[in-house]
Amino acid sequence: MSEKGAALDPSAYRSHLKPIWCPGCGHYGALSALCRAMAECRLDRWNTVVISGIGCSSRLPGFLNTYGFHGVHGRALPVATGVRIANPNLKVIVVSGDGDAYSIGAGHLLHCARRNPRIACIVLNNGVYGLTKGQISPTSPLPLASEGPTSDPRRWKTTPYGATETPINAVAQAIAWDTSFVARGFSYDQPGLTSVLVGALRHPGFALVDVLSPCPTWNQVQTEAFCRERVHPVPPGYDPTDRVAAFAEAIRNDVYTVGVLYRSRSRIHGIEEETASVRAAAMASSGGMQALLESLRVS
Ligand code: SF4
Repeated sequence: MSEKGAALDPSAYRSHLKPIWCPGCGHYGALSALCRAMAECRLDRWNTVVISGIGCSSRLPGFLNTYGFHGVHGRALPVATGVRIANPNLKVIVVSGDGDAYSIGAGHLLHCARRNPRIACIVLNNGVYGLTKGQISPTSPLPLASEGPTSDPRRWKTTPYGATETPINAVAQAIAWDTSFVARGFSYDQPGLTSVLVGALRHPGFALVDVLSPCPTWNQVQTEAFCRERVHPVPPGYDPTDRVAAFAEAIRNDVYTVGVLYRSRSRIHGIEEETASVRAAAMASSGGMQALLESLRVS
């Protein structure tokens, strides 16, 4: 990863593939902001790996001119952790969706936060399973209180009579897990989203960025206009190391607070450092890699 000198041209990070997202999809803005952030950090394309799971969001690595890995549903984080451990010199980025990261891959998210590998995990959160045609997701919204229960917005294809599950608040959960960096962005706010992505790319541990990224095809509730009305930046003087204040912002249901909401004071070492010391101890006590492998041989 290179950080010296002026920012590069964001277009250098785009591949020749044209995105096939629907017109108006929020993911276009997320792709654009990610390219800007990578350019600002002057990432070496040949030392950068972008790993995804499955979903509309997870098509994103194909639109970048870096190494990429389009994995299986919900499993981007274990792959990314393996890449970081195998080659700690690589910049590793995960792009996921709310279904991929917060449902199928929910267990991996918790343990990745706990292990703290140097991975920037960007979740394009649109409150619906878009690729599979509009099922409710873990973040699908509840009915608006002002409209009453009969207006349940989750009367979607697989829930024609409404849905009963309460949406999860992934940002608040991540703060509860003491995730070392937690941020929220909005895909139609290029300066704000680029700024939090730069912070995530530079963070020396696990960084979760939840991006409000509207799906105009299937989610008619959390539209661009709906989000624009509710998005507001962290208040002046906000201290992201104050965990109680971070919770207070994360659990607000009148607005979506965007920016860097939380930075852990206590998460210093990540899995790379810890596995390096374990590896060194194993090598020292076993007489080297060959001897270690021989000791494991089943005769
Ligand atoms: Fe975007 Fe929704 Fe279309 Fe998928 S279905 S590309 S999330 S607008």
